[in-house]
Amino acid sequence: MEGRRQRMVADQLRANGISDPAVLQAMSAVPREEFVPAGLRSLAYDDRALGIGWGQTISQPLVVAAMTQALALGSEDTVLEVGTGSGYQAAVLSLLCRQVVSVELEPALAERAAANLRRLGYANVEVAVGDGHLGWPSRSPYQGILVACATPQVPAALVEQLDEGGRMVVPLGSSRADHQDLRLLKKNGGSLESRDLFAVRFVPLR
Ligand code: SAH
Repeated sequence: MEGRRQRMVADQLRANGISDPAVLQAMSAVPREEFVPAGLRSLAYDDRALGIGWGQTISQPLVVAAMTQALALGSEDTVLEVGTGSGYQAAVLSLLCRQVVSVELEPALAERAAANLRRLGYANVEVAVGDGHLGWPSRSPYQGILVACATPQVPAALVEQLDEGGRMVVPLGSSRADHQDLRLLKKNGGSLESRDLFAVRFVPLR
């Protein structure tokens, strides 16, 4: 698995524009095979999303890395993730910042991810059960927000909870369309700078 992980980093990430050394390091360190269902372990380093139950998916490694890189995190940052799923993205983020708060709507997924993260030693991830449309106000402001579900518009609570100078990545568009646009937002003097990065396909923010 170690060898496959290093090959994934070289062939899928470095070869496709992931250049931030800290992101590459984090992706080399987190064992994706521990976040996929037991029967899919042999596919853990394939260049694809995989089913994790409850109709949900663990994102493709390149998408995890690119969204993480876009946040340009600092070691003292607090990051909000919407859509914990397997907990894999949260584990990657946790190696690059001080604290991750990850909100998941489905309690069974949240419980499984939290137990897995604890078992693997990712102590600076807090998994919360709730509706990500509302963010998680008690730990705000966040220097980074990563939305791991598709939404037709950016939830207002997330914009409110983003720190001045903070960055948010969000797959914008209908989950029924064949793709969404991954948008990068930066809060600057009270207004939002916005840039589209690339096309992605996510399950809906419900
Ligand atoms: N980041 C995950 C993949 C996310 S899949 C990983 O690394 O594995 C999207 C997740 O968002 C699913 O687990 C889904 O249950 C969750 N979700 C959907 N709507 C949500 C909402 N309104 N609030 C919080 N989580 C939501």
